Amino acid sequence: MNDYEIDELAGAVAGLVGGAIPVDLARIAAEERIELMEGEFGADFHGRIEYLPDEGIFAIYHPSASGEIFPGRIRFTIAHELGHYFIPDHRDLLLKYLVHDSAEDFRPNRAVERQADRFAAALLLPAKTLQARMGRKGFMALKEIRTLAGDCGTSLQAAAFRYSQFTTEPHLAIISEDRRILYYFASEEAEALGFGGLGNRLIPDGSPTDCAFRSQGRDIEEGETNTELWFSERYRRADLWEESVHLGYAGRVLTLLSWQDTRSDD
Ligand SMILES: [Zn+2]
Repeated sequence: MNDYEIDELAGAVAGLVGGAIPVDLARIAAEERIELMEGEFGADFHGRIEYLPDEGIFAIYHPSASGEIFPGRIRFTIAHELGHYFIPDHRDLLLKYLVHDSAEDFRPNRAVERQADRFAAALLLPAKTLQARMGRKGFMALKEIRTLAGDCGTSLQAAAFRYSQFTTEPHLAIISEDRRILYYFASEEAEALGFGGLGNRLIPDGSPTDCAFRSQGRDIEEGETNTELWFSERYRRADLWEESVHLGYAGRVLTLLSWQDTRSDD
């Protein structure tokens, strides 16, 4: 399945339970006769789906909510395992090997884990919801993405990355830790403009992202920036709008970069 087919499939699964947010994962599991098994499985455990041939049912094992594990992450884990159930190729593998353990670094089977993540994001943050919230202006600000994450029961990072996949605007979502860029998602339009890769390893000095690191608060820092400050290889210069917020854990900041001149309301 390609990414768009996975998005369609996830949208159809969200539709099975009415498409309302937060998407009712327990009800999806119940309707498919999937057992949800909560427990303490250790720090390295991320999720598992298993086919129980004697009962003829699937079981999903996921961590229980505790101080260290955010509810948004548990929902993402369950949605990811549901991806292995609903994506036909993954289900075939499960029926053959009976069990699949998910890993955070995705090394064992990168393509399969990436597809399940794509499914999870599209299930938890349905296309219909994104479209409705983007409205006629056609984009979302960080503040709106934060509200979306809360309403959909996901992490802010998951909502920002989903938005990057979804938007038709040039846009990047960046996670940095202690001022180092850890990873990022570029929208298709950003890639088409030649801005798919940052190149730089560090965030710009004095930028809103730098302010978010200094303040460590939950306020959104924002301001004008440009491609010369953020990208090591520059194609044509473009003015950007930068929005940043401290994620409140592991010294991490989320940054959104949007192209100013494509926005109709500025
Ligand atoms: Zn997995």
